[in-house]
Amino acid sequence: MSSNPEIFKKLIKAEAKNLGFCLIGISAPQELNHYSKYQNWIQTGKNAGMTYLASKTALEAKIFPPALFPDCKSIISLAAQFPNPNQYQNATGTQPTSGILASYALGTDYHEILMQQMTLLMTSVIDRTGNEVKWMSAVDTLPMAERELAVQAGLGWIGKNGMLNTLEYGSTVFLSEIMLDLALPPDEPQSKDFCGECNLCVDACPTHCILPDRTLDANRCLSYLTIEHRGEIPSAFHEVLGERIFGCDTCIVVCPWNQKSKSEPRIQALFPESLTNQLDIKTSLPEIIEHFHRYFQHSAIRRAGKVGFLRNCLIRLANAQTANADQLMDEIVSRFPHPDIIKYYAVLSNKDSRDNKKELE
Ligand code: SF4
Ligand code: SF4
Repeated sequence: MSSNPEIFKKLIKAEAKNLGFCLIGISAPQELNHYSKYQNWIQTGKNAGMTYLASKTALEAKIFPPALFPDCKSIISLAAQFPNPNQYQNATGTQPTSGILASYALGTDYHEILMQQMTLLMTSVIDRTGNEVKWMSAVDTLPMAERELAVQAGLGWIGKNGMLNTLEYGSTVFLSEIMLDLALPPDEPQSKDFCGECNLCVDACPTHCILPDRTLDANRCLSYLTIEHRGEIPSAFHEVLGERIFGCDTCIVVCPWNQKSKSEPRIQALFPESLTNQLDIKTSLPEIIEHFHRYFQHSAIRRAGKVGFLRNCLIRLANAQTANADQLMDEIVSRFPHPDIIKYYAVLSNKDSRDNKKELE
């Protein structure tokens, strides 16, 4: 039984790798130096409808993580790989009645899996060392500055699209954190920017929502609009959504670090069984309508909500402009006559409005 922090750290790192995490690093709790950037992001409304990110707790915790866990003496940052969208590109084209899903959502819901893995990690190391350690874990479940913490822990740098990017796995990683009341020797922060002169993600973003300070204007980001946003999606974004029905992988796909990154499905549950990022709306429709929460019980897609997800499906089907897709739109509204769905359907099935789409500025 050992309380030696060096030994504890070695065991944590070895066990995290055994459990399928691909990168792990440690930082000491400190004030993170992105305060003015974050504050400006909130004050200029770039957080869109994510008002929870502007709460007093969120503001405090984003800058100083121990605001959430006052006993915090170390923070473990963990990365686990998700499917690289470059491997899921559809060579044959998408069916007019299918839609494209963000690659991170192809496997089992990462919140569920990574929370389990972190619990296994901590209980295993605590059992082996005999240390009495208090800890608290998060995977997008607390307002942690997960990317800044990952930089502090040496996992990677923040790319121009605002995502954490890593030399080994590009940006196809989920981040999670464990705060603990044991002071562990911190790792070296990553101080280099490996984006260099590259600007591919900024140029490729279909809505030009990537800002010069490496943040996003969520109001214009297709990931935000299809996942977090409640209510109508402004018509200016309909055409640009194309075949997407949940999230957007464009800035991930074009990044050179994702084109040469290793793909190691070490936590199998985070990867799908088949190599496709398409959902056949037609086949899935009865389950989506009757049992949305059960059907997506173990999927991050649940986050969009039933009305939001069907709204996305309607836009995709309207974009297909085929008789089959139009028929499926009719079927959605007749089987699920929710007031919002009726409203979206009316806008999307109106030929005049289809032909006179507003241009995205
Ligand atoms: S997810 Fe899509 S819309 Fe959002 S920043 Fe990336 S490319 Fe742009
Ligand atoms: S595409 Fe280029 S600029 Fe964008 S994150 Fe990747 S390396 Fe950086």
